[in-house]
Amino acid sequence: MIPLRIKVEANTDQPFVVRLRSFEADAWEQRTEQLNPFDAALEHVGPEGADYVGEAGPIRILGIDPSEVDGDVLLVNPRRGTADRLVRSSSQDNTLLVTERCDQVCLMCSQPPKKHHLDLFSYFETAALLAPEGATIGISGGEPTLFKVQLFDFLRRVLDARPDLSFHVLTNGQHFDLDDRDAMSRIDLARVVWGIPLYSRDPAVHDEIVGKAGAHEQLLENLALMCRLGAQVELRTVLMRPNSDGLPQLARFIASTLPFIRTWAIMQMENIGFGRMNWKALFHDSSQGFDVVGRSIDYVRSRGIATWMYNFPLCTVPEPYRHLAPATISDWKRAYREECGGCSLKARCGGFFEWHPANHGYSNLGAIQ
Ligand code: SF4
Repeated sequence: MIPLRIKVEANTDQPFVVRLRSFEADAWEQRTEQLNPFDAALEHVGPEGADYVGEAGPIRILGIDPSEVDGDVLLVNPRRGTADRLVRSSSQDNTLLVTERCDQVCLMCSQPPKKHHLDLFSYFETAALLAPEGATIGISGGEPTLFKVQLFDFLRRVLDARPDLSFHVLTNGQHFDLDDRDAMSRIDLARVVWGIPLYSRDPAVHDEIVGKAGAHEQLLENLALMCRLGAQVELRTVLMRPNSDGLPQLARFIASTLPFIRTWAIMQMENIGFGRMNWKALFHDSSQGFDVVGRSIDYVRSRGIATWMYNFPLCTVPEPYRHLAPATISDWKRAYREECGGCSLKARCGGFFEWHPANHGYSNLGAIQ
């Protein structure tokens, strides 16, 4: 698995953001590119680690080859001796986790909420401004809109300063209201997609899944509001036993009532956090029970709404639908199984989450020749 946190040594107490440039300082004289004040250039590599130097002072990284972190933007925590790779320059899968607080307790949550919150928006803003040209940056939590004032400011400032960047924000959609109209209107909404979960047409089923009474009603209100504000919505439905039978009914509801959404994503579960605790009760084996998925996709697509399957191993999907199942599992947590050896689809298959159980739950899976 690609490490998102690395060991560092730095001569300061306070956290700081730095971008590593793994070219020795002399080599910069040959390059046309200018060093940014947040850049640290490689000075020396030895058995004890790789030493970089920049305006923030010297920093040593340990346990990773400098070539693997060239251009990476780190949030360094000197007291802990660690740095989080907020932006990996070689990856399309950079996500900023802005809070671990949430007002829902979803049955399959992969990142169970915590009470503690640390506001890191100023560091995230610096990091985003140092991201590679054209990057799309994910925002997740917890629930990011619990801190929507800071979030909206962050999006506005970064998008204003970097016309090449865009964002994908995961939110439960519970906290938007009419008072957000001004703040939202100052954000370039053409470059923000809001990924919002809707699990069922049946309010009782949705509320049960998210662990919050009235969540369904609030969500439908807010989806209508987001439509009026001109937000781009990617509706997300994690496929589980409690909602799988109702998927075709949800599909009809989406096509008739929410035709303004940009995409609908039907998603397979992730076996971590609450998803692991509740796996046996929730996991829907779509390699057997694909019928509800196929019918739902056909219906929504026939109404002109783009519909995708996220996190589905390609061999579990009937051939006519495979082009609708992109490789969506992030590079740092993607893994393949023994069964994948020699599979002709591997290059375009997203495989499995690293932590997917060995007895994987799919009754029908294996290399496609
Ligand atoms: S065998 Fe592995 S690589 Fe091939 S389609 Fe299935 S999960 Fe993907």
